[in-house]
Amino acid sequence: MIIPILCFSCSSTLADKWRTYERLQKEGRTKCEALDLLNVRRYCCRNNMLSHVDLIETLLKQQPATIRKGQE
Ligand SMILES: [Zn+2]
Repeated sequence: MIIPILCFSCSSTLADKWRTYERLQKEGRTKCEALDLLNVRRYCCRNNMLSHVDLIETLLKQQPATIRKGQE
């Protein structure tokens, strides 16, 4: 949902690289090239970045549940 701040295995910081990673992909770079440019070399960190699905924007678009006050 939200990119982990630190890698679960080696505790390297990942969250500060996520927006740049997305921008590089929009500019036409492959995922591998983007990770290389961001100097994400370890397999554990690459796994976290590659397997992450950014759902937060989708969830924020959802309408909140209506609150029924005084209705039964
Ligand atoms: Zn790692």
